[in-house]
Amino acid sequence: MGDTESSELQRSRLGFETRAIHDGQAPDAVTGAVVPPISLSTTFAQDAVGRPRSYEYARSGNPTRTALETCVASLEDARHGLAFASGLAAEDAILRLVPPGKRVLIGLDAYGGTYRLITAVWAPERQTAWTAIDLTDPARLAEEWPDDTALVWMETPSNPLLTCIDIEALADVAHARSAVLVVDNTFATPYLQRPLSHGADIVVHSATKYLGGHSDVIGGVLTVDDDELAERLAYLQNAAGAVPGPFDCYLVLRGAKTLAVRMDRHCENARAVVDLLVRHPAVDRVMYPQLPDHPGHAAAAKQMLDFGGMVSFTLADGPERAIQVAERTELFTLAESLGAVESLIEHPGVMTHASVAGSPLEVPANLLRLSVGLESAPDLVADLEQALS
Ligand SMILES: *Cc1c(COP(=O)(O)O)cnc(C)c1O
Repeated sequence: MGDTESSELQRSRLGFETRAIHDGQAPDAVTGAVVPPISLSTTFAQDAVGRPRSYEYARSGNPTRTALETCVASLEDARHGLAFASGLAAEDAILRLVPPGKRVLIGLDAYGGTYRLITAVWAPERQTAWTAIDLTDPARLAEEWPDDTALVWMETPSNPLLTCIDIEALADVAHARSAVLVVDNTFATPYLQRPLSHGADIVVHSATKYLGGHSDVIGGVLTVDDDELAERLAYLQNAAGAVPGPFDCYLVLRGAKTLAVRMDRHCENARAVVDLLVRHPAVDRVMYPQLPDHPGHAAAAKQMLDFGGMVSFTLADGPERAIQVAERTELFTLAESLGAVESLIEHPGVMTHASVAGSPLEVPANLLRLSVGLESAPDLVADLEQALS
């Protein structure tokens, strides 16, 4: 587990960009290697029976994973970080905290795979009860609160509708009722938003997205402050074993070093794209948290440094037009996933969110989602303009 305590003093003094490059990544004590070596050994020599040094067996922990876990914990202002083989593996570990028969609340917009994990795996196999409910109105939620709720699962901004939820307000409601609040921070990244500092108990990421940032690694990370919760989750990480390999840890760690500069440009390019979309006659509604008429604008402005690189929009002419536009872009690659250097376009109803069809989380059929990448903004705008024409 990434134990960050030794760097606590440092963390309180150094900026985000500095910590992204240095935390967990001091030059190798023996060789001076500036980049943390990819430590492939699955087992580690012990000094005596029952007297291991720092590591025993690589599922329980290895130096490359520790480097990543320490770095991400630092970036989330968390005491502990744990890395997993995928975002969903991290989510699965968190859901193991819910006692059988107890309830999970999930918002009305979320990653389709999360919804599937809760409703199609945990519900039938572990009798996990669940309710899809509007999490954007804490006062109403407090009134409608199901008594058997153990955990609240929120995304802000959410995938794919960019719904934004006031983390602090939701944490107050959840904690007054002894529920754990989980925030999926994949869209915002720790550079733009640090949910633990707003009262969340657990922050989870698909590291496959912005943390890795280059569409070349599947990974997950979670961070927590509470020592006891961290101990339980670290136990589950090792006992269930959905851990990332050292090379994957290295790739995410390398991506994280440039997270701040990438996010600044993702936000800037997203604004250029939004400027086009809001004035284009083929577009019906643009979802981007910076827009003053976005329902979550106030929450986003309160808790985010900037508004991110994800943009969704609906087409005035309906679903056929949406599919046509998605197939006509040239720079925006038609593909699932998000958060990397290259721009992507997708149709959530058919692609990433097919698993929520017919559910309370169903997305509009005329919806398109953009992951705005780091290409030249005028090129991206021109590409969308030709696809929409
Ligand atoms: C992709 C994604 C996940 C799942 O992560 P994987 O790394 O694909 O397992 C979870 N939450 C959000 C918001 C995502 O976009």
